[in-house]
Amino acid sequence: MDEIDDPRIRSVVIVGGGTAGWMTAAALVQHFRTTPLKITVVESSDIGTIGVGEATIPTIRRFYGQLGLRDDDVMRATQATCKLGIRFIDWSGPGSDFIHPFGLYGQDVKGIGFHHYWLKQHRAGETAPLAAYSLGAALAAGGKFTLPSPNPPSSLSVFDWALHLDAGLFAQHLRAYAEAGGCARIDARIRSVELRPDDGFVRALTLDDGREVEGDLFVDCSGFKGLVIGEALGVGFEDWGRWLPCDAAYAVQSENRPGDAPAPFTRVTARSAGWQWGIPLRHRAGNGLVFSSAHLSDDQALAELMPHLLGDPLTEPRRIPFRPGRRTQAWAKNCVAIGLSAGFLEPLESTSIALIETGIERLKALFPDRRFAQPILDEFNDQTAREMERVRDFIILHYKLNRRTDTDFWRDCRAMAIPETLERKIALWTARGQFVRYRWEMFHPASWLAIYDGFGLYPDGHDPAVDAMDPAYLARSLAEMRANIADLVARTPNHAQFLAGLDPAAS
Ligand code: FAD
Repeated sequence: MDEIDDPRIRSVVIVGGGTAGWMTAAALVQHFRTTPLKITVVESSDIGTIGVGEATIPTIRRFYGQLGLRDDDVMRATQATCKLGIRFIDWSGPGSDFIHPFGLYGQDVKGIGFHHYWLKQHRAGETAPLAAYSLGAALAAGGKFTLPSPNPPSSLSVFDWALHLDAGLFAQHLRAYAEAGGCARIDARIRSVELRPDDGFVRALTLDDGREVEGDLFVDCSGFKGLVIGEALGVGFEDWGRWLPCDAAYAVQSENRPGDAPAPFTRVTARSAGWQWGIPLRHRAGNGLVFSSAHLSDDQALAELMPHLLGDPLTEPRRIPFRPGRRTQAWAKNCVAIGLSAGFLEPLESTSIALIETGIERLKALFPDRRFAQPILDEFNDQTAREMERVRDFIILHYKLNRRTDTDFWRDCRAMAIPETLERKIALWTARGQFVRYRWEMFHPASWLAIYDGFGLYPDGHDPAVDAMDPAYLARSLAEMRANIADLVARTPNHAQFLAGLDPAAS
């Protein structure tokens, strides 16, 4: 058959072997296991990877589940701990503290959101916080962990979990998987990208030693630089710095202190011009400060970060500058950008690896042939852009709603103009306690609720249908829900015990 009879893609070249590159390779190897498709990863061990990216959201487990990998195997391979959510410290002012859990609050009744019942009671003087109705938040606050019941008896037990993992070990694990499935790997520096003179499509990569690597489809996983999508194909970048003020980070690893129990949540603490992360792994911890370089010098950033590590430092702090925004087209010609090459927001809600997963899903669903029909590219680009905008809005919400009064940084964030899509959401929430749902949302209403509640932004009233319920019955039901949660938490082992059970040798 000549090319016109058989336009199928024969060869995929993945440019870069960081988290994005090896996730893409593993997923494509699995997806095309019965198809003759050559998959090659080109990476440079001289250049290395970004080396951060340790907190995930629950979709990661579905990603590796599709590969046939089990939670316990991945956890052992990546020195992982469990993550029930994110704990926000000092974001609403000194001493403030709340958890954004992966899971639901209470039980909706007759299609009316639980928060409306809670709001009514709250206004009537009921003091229990919304978090008392989230099993995920209560487990996290108590340092407990257990697997969610596969058949929850009620929505009280609906919570989900993710991992804190060593990103380098995760990439190695996926590399072993991909190579076992036939993926080729070339360790070399890419010197240049060769375009076809007639249509500007990518023909090959030229390596430092002069070798050429040809392909039909190139997946750009080369990190921030966007070697193919940006540097070779000239696709532009939409800068979101006016809404996402942080543009740099210092990352540093620390020792685990003997006897310290690893928290089952990511800790994010607001500082004077940004925030600090703390991520417990089994063999060490990840720490970092994300900050606005316009508001804080490097020396000041280090002075804020280093006294608050989760343990003694194991590495020198590493500065990582970044530019929040997205590639104007994630797919151009025969190149699809996945990972940092497609854009980056900032790590506050651990969304980068999740965006890699959805990029891969989209590529599988829209996998082209060598004619690269424009509607396929348009759909991929539209979905990617919308999804990133939704995540962007969710992250902006945290800055916009902050209640700190100590620095210009936080005051400026509160005063900033926000995207119209986010304005609509906040307006509907405050007017009616409801959630605007756009297409391609990564975060569900429960997550929005967690942030609104955490920052103390409540609607003016509650759903009038709630008033039909007998107040005494309502008060009893809520008290029962709280008691059930407290009882479940009391009966759950702590996180360290759960981790020890993963590894019989260590228990
Ligand atoms: P990289 O890791 O940079 O990999 C690029 C690859 O391309 C490497 O293999 C490199 O060798 C190769 N390469 C580049 N140029 C060449 C060349 N010329 N020749 C050959 N090979 C080349 N995400 C989360 O989900 N959770 C988090 O908690 C989180 N925290 C973060 C914190 C910070 C401060 C930052 C900046 C990011 C964070 N991220 C997080 C994002 C996460 O790190 C990335 O999304 C993820 O690591 C994917 O990176 P990548 O594979 O796209 O790029």
